[in-house]
Amino acid sequence: MADSMNLHTVGDLLDHVPRRLVKRGELSSFDDLELEAHATLVAEVVSVTTRRMRNRKGSITEVVITDRSQHSEHQVISGTGDDQMTLSFFNAYTAARELSSGVHALFSGKVSLYKGKRTMTNPHYAPLDAEDDIGSLDVMADASSPIPVYPATAKLTSDRIAAAVKAAFSEVTWSTVPDPLPPGVADRHGYPDLPTAYRHLHRPPDERSWYRAKARFRHTEALMLQTALVRRRRAVNLRPARPLPPTPQGILDRFDQQLPFELTPAQRSVGEQLTEDLSREHPMNRLLQGDVGAGKTVVALRAMLQAVDAGAQAALLAPTEVLAAQHHASIQAALGPLAQAGTLGGDPEGTRVVLLTGSMPQSARKRALLEIASGQAGIVVGTHALLSETVQFFELGLVVVDEQHRFGVEQRDRLRDAGELSPHLLVMTATPIPRTVAMTVFGDLDVSVLEGLPGGRRPITTHVVGLFEHPRWEARIFQRAREEIEAGRQVYFVAPKIGEDDAVPQMTLAESVKVLAAAPELRARRDSAKRSAAGTAKSRAGSEAAAQEPGEGMISTRWLEELVEASPALAGVSTAALHGRLEAPEKTATMEGFAAGEIGLLVCTTVVEVGVDVPNATFMVVFDADRFGISQLHQLRGRIGRGEHASTCLLVTRREPGHPSRDRIDAVAATTDGFELAQADLTLRREGDILGDAQSGGRSTLRLLRALDDVKIIESARQEAMEILDVDPTLERHWGLALAIEAYLDEDTEKYLERG
Ligand code: ADP
Ligand code: MG
Repeated sequence: MADSMNLHTVGDLLDHVPRRLVKRGELSSFDDLELEAHATLVAEVVSVTTRRMRNRKGSITEVVITDRSQHSEHQVISGTGDDQMTLSFFNAYTAARELSSGVHALFSGKVSLYKGKRTMTNPHYAPLDAEDDIGSLDVMADASSPIPVYPATAKLTSDRIAAAVKAAFSEVTWSTVPDPLPPGVADRHGYPDLPTAYRHLHRPPDERSWYRAKARFRHTEALMLQTALVRRRRAVNLRPARPLPPTPQGILDRFDQQLPFELTPAQRSVGEQLTEDLSREHPMNRLLQGDVGAGKTVVALRAMLQAVDAGAQAALLAPTEVLAAQHHASIQAALGPLAQAGTLGGDPEGTRVVLLTGSMPQSARKRALLEIASGQAGIVVGTHALLSETVQFFELGLVVVDEQHRFGVEQRDRLRDAGELSPHLLVMTATPIPRTVAMTVFGDLDVSVLEGLPGGRRPITTHVVGLFEHPRWEARIFQRAREEIEAGRQVYFVAPKIGEDDAVPQMTLAESVKVLAAAPELRARRDSAKRSAAGTAKSRAGSEAAAQEPGEGMISTRWLEELVEASPALAGVSTAALHGRLEAPEKTATMEGFAAGEIGLLVCTTVVEVGVDVPNATFMVVFDADRFGISQLHQLRGRIGRGEHASTCLLVTRREPGHPSRDRIDAVAATTDGFELAQADLTLRREGDILGDAQSGGRSTLRLLRALDDVKIIESARQEAMEILDVDPTLERHWGLALAIEAYLDEDTEKYLERG
């Protein structure tokens, strides 16, 4: 049972941080309780009644508890209002004895619903008023000190953990425990010493001491992480790389001359930065952040051309095959004859651009591999498959990773270790990353921001279409799409999933609203989501509950295709579907057809989420928009508004107004500013989601540290890490810190770093 909590050693126990403190006399509010979840709460017993069971042998003890401190004499005993809860114990003679009116106790168990009221059956309990309470660790912890409540499970309850922690304390010889936090740092911030910090973490004399102790551990964690990252970054910066200085009159210069637009000042200054980075004898390691449509591709392409001019090859990695194919096509188009060296009509001074993806036909793949190995191909576009061992580059000088958040430190390292010389690296992302998150996740990269959008772009108007309130609007959506296509523009219809395994429902969207609204299971979940969304701390649970509802009833591309086919408004419109289940050649053909304007309406999933660039597409309808996250919607919407025409995005929802997931679509409709949306997103969920899923269950990778809340600590730790490494690069004189980093990296941070 210790397994499920990962509590195996004394150290694990000491590091198991109480979730919260309960002040003595203070009761936990029942309002926060989630159904079907394990809960630990402190409550006051109102009444205890034991009676024989009618149909079975034995007795049942009903314990009414309350979350409002009150004198039970004034209370109607049978009342179970919202501030009361009835717990049932079967054959619980001790409970009947130990729990009596007025007693404060810790209860833990699963919260369930019985006859419409919340209840717990046979919960674990521990009376709090007893002399020997749950594990005094310290003389300071007297009757007035708060009670820690630990993250617990049904079997390993909070008070048992407290008892184990108390036992663990007696095992520790503090003089042998290294303190990872250098004394100078601890002093500067006025943190208590390590043993005191641990004591205050588990049994603080008051709340303030608890927060100080936690701050110390957070700071320690931040320092370990930052020291690891700064050290890694310095090591990487020392690696040799082939310098790729600009070449006058090279392909880059000629490309610049034929560019159909002026580079924005931001593009120019980031470009200069990259030119400088590439000229160095050490690898560039740069993250380029720029909102959707900011024009990152041309910046990357110019860097790649500089590499080619200097005699090296450049690889561009895209997250999907569709995007790789699109990049390949658009780079070839942008370069024109410059990309066709060695062919008739090609520029002999130019280079070649090849595409390499996993699903290419064998013969094409062979040809591509050959051009890559021989060095004929200056620019290679592909998916991550490009980094596999079978792909031999002639002279790989620069790697550009587009729109990729999952390209973690691990992959970056693999790339660097590939040969004697490390290639230069440019990672591009459209997800605005708050600075401290960037410092934690991409702490080994330099960061450039491509501000603003290239001029001449038309704004995107976004509307929320609530079919629940306005079922008639469904017809209008199709009509609008028709108008757009007739005006020569193109349209995206986006659905959250591909198809259902059962039959496509024979109903319109508006009809389906009723079905959705009536689905009892969804309704129950929605209600619980609503409840949890009430408290700000719980809003994440709310949005997740919405996102995790079963796929049933979700609009699929298949359903949409049928609706489109049946829609008189869209009769005769050339339509195609694009989604992940299609074969690669079909995907590519569809994308090319859409890019060429042959397809008017593209029914798709989020395969178009990133990067796809069809300037003539001006109308996007996202169905069941409430199924998507904020940044996903923002990315999707970035597929329109790319040309000279005004664009419109409709976020269609069948949810009723007031549903928590509508907050997200309202936020997206309210602004097109990526940074503003990122902020809205972060207030709706915690940064755990940015960093990845591993944070959710059990122990989080960032244990105490919260990249958003702990800005000051992280910035200060970064500074301290640099100072420490300046004077002690091998951490010889900071062995407590060195050991802690090693253990930290060993355990689960490896995973975290890989995830990037
Ligand atoms: P993202 O940063 O999202 O990858 P892209 O690189 O795809 O954006 O650029 C979006 C669109 O803007 C493309 O069609 C591109 O050709 C165009 N573009 C890029 N830079 C400029 C510029 N300086 N002036 C006008 N259009 C530009
Ligand atoms: Mg892009």
